[in-house]
Amino acid sequence: MATLKEVLDRNIREGELYEKLDRGFVRCFACGHCCRIPSGQVGVCKVRFNEGGKLFVPWGYVGGVQCDPIEKKPFAHAFPGGLAYSFGMMGCDLHCSYCQNWVTSQALRDPSAIAAPLRATPEGLVREAMRLGARAIVSTYNEPLITSEWAVAVFKEARAAGLATGFVSNGNGTPQVLEYLCPWVDLYKVDLKSFDDRHYRQLGGRLEPILDSIRMIHRLGFWLEIVTLTIQGFNDSDDELTRLADFLVSVSPDIPWHVTAFHKDYKMTDPADTSAETLVRAAEIGKRAGLRYVYAGNLPGQVGDLENTRCPNCHELLIERYGYLVASYHLTASGCCPSCGTSIPGRWDPVFQGQMISRPFVPRSRSRSELYSIMPSSGR
Ligand code: SF4
Repeated sequence: MATLKEVLDRNIREGELYEKLDRGFVRCFACGHCCRIPSGQVGVCKVRFNEGGKLFVPWGYVGGVQCDPIEKKPFAHAFPGGLAYSFGMMGCDLHCSYCQNWVTSQALRDPSAIAAPLRATPEGLVREAMRLGARAIVSTYNEPLITSEWAVAVFKEARAAGLATGFVSNGNGTPQVLEYLCPWVDLYKVDLKSFDDRHYRQLGGRLEPILDSIRMIHRLGFWLEIVTLTIQGFNDSDDELTRLADFLVSVSPDIPWHVTAFHKDYKMTDPADTSAETLVRAAEIGKRAGLRYVYAGNLPGQVGDLENTRCPNCHELLIERYGYLVASYHLTASGCCPSCGTSIPGRWDPVFQGQMISRPFVPRSRSRSELYSIMPSSGR
């Protein structure tokens, strides 16, 4: 019976984000590891591999799909109340012990991560997103950088259909991959997990490529939001949060920063779940540093005004939220404060098209005809 690795190794095509080196080696540029891979070997992510001096990359499947509120990604300044059709593949370049998507991200590293891939085409995914009423289509669940070629193929179809496109990423990019994505990705969320290089090395990465990528994502004009899952004893000290917020302000005080609550997951079961008090403290650090839009997430109704968007000039309430749901929306057609006219950075539709708590809509049920398992009935 074919294993998951054998199945995934058949769902591939030659990549675009690499160069050929001497003696059959290749250099991959899809993430900050920039792996130099000999023939017959895989990169750190385990899903891109060198065969005969060519780099092969994942293609033609998804590890999971779901239609979510865009606020769940989280994006607060992009098409509020819209649905984001979300898909992922398998694998990751990091190995975070608290990953909430470990079943797909760690599928080839951890024998207990069992997920069945579904065959997919870009056209089929976009058709399904449209049928479900999505406003955007988002690559998430695994690290999308390592499957960038597939995401771009999907996003080309999505753009033609009028959908916005987005990445939910750890931000461990390279100049080459960000230039490659720039024409096709509208929204980019980076999970900035820490401001301590030692912590990043525990997760399998380094801080510097991520900071460089954040600067470049902003410079290239993607709509950028940052999330930091706040974990007691890992990244929640005043000093670390202050340095992180100061860095974001140095890129732009208009970048929305989401501080979100950790809950025990995967292999990280020691730290306590994050309290509302910790989130409020983190948010106050962000505001003191000069960030204009700071949000506290994962604890609906427990963080006061920190779920809402207010005008940074006159403090008018612009978007009121409860968790992932919009309770009221007051921006003008051009994305300005109705009270003082301040332009609010983000991606806004001229007419609010999203769902509200008072008149929610839900995705219609999914047809299974577009997606079917490519795994044999047993084996992994
Ligand atoms: S995506 Fe990253 S980890 Fe995977 S092969 Fe390329 S450089 Fe290495």
